[in-house]
Formats: sequence, C-alpha cells, structure tokens
Amino acid sequence: MDEDQRALLDIVTQVKGHLEFQKALGVRALAVPSRVDDKTNIAARTSNNNLDAGLSGRESAIKQNPSFVKRHEEESVSVSPSSLDSIREELGNCIRCKLSQDRNAIVFGEGNSEAKLVFIGEGPGYEEDQQGRPFVGEAGQLLTDIIIKGMKLKREEVYICNVVKCRPPNNRTPESDEINACEPFLRKQLLAIKPKVIVTLGNVPTQTLLKTKDGITKLRGTWRDFEGILLMPTFHPAYLLRNPKDKALVWEDIQKVMIQLGMKVKG
Ligand code: URA
Repeated sequence: MDEDQRALLDIVTQVKGHLEFQKALGVRALAVPSRVDDKTNIAARTSNNNLDAGLSGRESAIKQNPSFVKRHEEESVSVSPSSLDSIREELGNCIRCKLSQDRNAIVFGEGNSEAKLVFIGEGPGYEEDQQGRPFVGEAGQLLTDIIIKGMKLKREEVYICNVVKCRPPNNRTPESDEINACEPFLRKQLLAIKPKVIVTLGNVPTQTLLKTKDGITKLRGTWRDFEGILLMPTFHPAYLLRNPKDKALVWEDIQKVMIQLGMKVKG
C-alpha cells in the first residue's frame, strides 16, 4: 500500500467512525444545507427527509448527548423551522407535486411575520403566479378592500397565503395529492406566525385545516379551532365576485373577527 492509499484509508476510517458516532446519536441521515435555487431541489428534499429521520432518533440522541438538540437544529432547517425564512428555505425550488411543472413562481405568502390575523386562500391564480405574490388579481383586490376599507388595517399588518403555493392549471381546484404535498408548509407557517385568528377563504383552506368535508356554506361564520388558534371560515372573494349579494355575510364574519381582535366595529 502506497502513501496515497494509506491516506485515503485513514480518511475512510475517520468518516466511518464519525458516521457510526452520528448513528449512535440517533441520526439516520445527514443534514444537507439547502439553498433556494434549482440545484438544491435535491438538497431541500434531503433536508426534508431529515426531519423524519432526525425526529425518530431524537429521544435517544438527547439522552446520550444533550448538545445534540442545539447542534442539530443549527445544522438543519428541517428539524425545527421556527421562522418564515427557514420554512421558505426548506420549501426551496419545490418539485414535491405536479403543480411545479407549470408554475412561473412559487407564491409562498406575504405580510407581517408576527401578524395577529392570517388570511388563507386556495392557491395562486394567473396574476399571483406572474408576480409571486398572493391575492393580487381581481379577487385579491376585493380581499385588499376588505382589509383596508373594511377593517381599516394595512395589508402589511396581516399575513396572506394559500394552501397550495403553485398555480393549478386553468385555476382548477387543487387536487388532494397537491394539497397533501403543500399542507405541511402551511401548517409550519401558521405555527411560526402564531396568529390570534385565522380566516379561511372558501372550501379548500377550511376543509384542509379543519379536516372536514363540510362545505363553506355550512361552516362560515362559526368559530372553529386550529391547533389552539381561533379559525373563522368565510366565503372566498372570487365567490363574492360571482355572488355579490353574499358580501354582507362575509362582512358579518369579518366583524366577528374584528371584535375578537379587540378592534372597533362601526355599528
Ligand atoms: N385566489 C386564491 O385563493 N389565492 C390567491 O392568491 C389568489 C386568488
């Protein structure tokens, strides 16, 4: 064995020892840093897998080495994504479902990361896909009017996002595999923001978060619970564009939200 081969063998032995040590700590996969660009699809997915892998071994790792928690959380955004930035980073240039094939832009969501109030729609439409921002088309203008003219808030004071982050072709309703792929990110967004109230707009976000098949006509206007956060289902603004007479019902629902948030409601 020559010198180079011996050096190589040394490296392999060291790496093997390191991996065995990690395995003993409960680590089942290595953290790969994820960046938000095309090349990192794999990295993002690997890091996502690490979430499950890391968590399954977590208890024994903590027992054997308490510093594991802090170190591992620093290494991988997937273990405990606590900020919207890290959740966005984990989403990466997502290809987890078929909606990624036709999208122009991922529409992650926007607004105040510490908002008391979050609005959730179904998925981006054409304008949203073009601009990479939620609710900027015609239905978005109506939602913006509800926020600014109705509630007397600024759009930047609330947080606005959707169940699916990519536009479904021809604005069709997202399919269950698409919702399933995106829902973990929505849940993480909500748990990171921890708003006082969530307003779900229409059937898709309402049924997704409440795990129900009941329709929006039955559920709207009634307080519900999502992970300890108050949730108010109401009609989607796109529905209101087609059924303007139901704007009064949405205004009733929004007034309930305003009262809950301690805001003044004009009698
Ligand atoms: N409809 C939605 O559900 N979301 C948007 O962002 C725009 C329109």
